[in-house]
Amino acid sequence: MLEHLLNLLFPDRCVGCRRLTGELFCVRCRSRLRPYPPFPPPPGLDAARVAFCYEGALVKAIHQLKYGRRRRVGHALGDLLAAAVGPLAADALIAVPLHRDRLRERGFNQAAELAVRLCRPGNPPLIEGLARARATGRQARLTATARVANTAGAFVWIGAQPPPPRVIVIDDVLTTGATLAACAAALRAAGAQSVVGIALARSVMLTPLYNRSICVVNCA
Ligand SMILES: [Zn+2]
Repeated sequence: MLEHLLNLLFPDRCVGCRRLTGELFCVRCRSRLRPYPPFPPPPGLDAARVAFCYEGALVKAIHQLKYGRRRRVGHALGDLLAAAVGPLAADALIAVPLHRDRLRERGFNQAAELAVRLCRPGNPPLIEGLARARATGRQARLTATARVANTAGAFVWIGAQPPPPRVIVIDDVLTTGATLAACAAALRAAGAQSVVGIALARSVMLTPLYNRSICVVNCA
């Protein structure tokens, strides 16, 4: 109610196109999102899905979420992710954790802001227990091999109980899959049997189907 009233008085500007639409991610920007095609899961994951190509308005929205620290953008994007992936069959959802220094700096974990919107009737609950064992730094300029080395052993399960058998790990942007694979390794070491990765976006440069598209630099 309060949010509705505030939006009437101070309508939201779309983070994608900057128009005063009353929505954080407007209908026009939503209609231009391209679904990301199916792809073989990165090593260590039983399956992986990405909702959208990392391009255009979505890049701006993700930047606003992560670097502009606009938490509400995460909810708008989480709703888009939920609609794109549909019902989820697993025992639990887990957001890729941030290192505590990064969490302090940003104030929230963007993957958790997305994941919380997937907690709908029929979907598994979002649980905690996965933690960063160490900081991995920004990976934007690392090669695929360097990312694997950089993220290996970066996560650890610290839950009081072992993780449930079937887990879905949620992240904002999937690049090589090294981060999700490192999460999967920690979850399997603690007892999980199946680990699926789901991300909001991935650079179109990383799939041959879209290799003629104009692409943006993936700075996740
Ligand atoms: Zn827009």
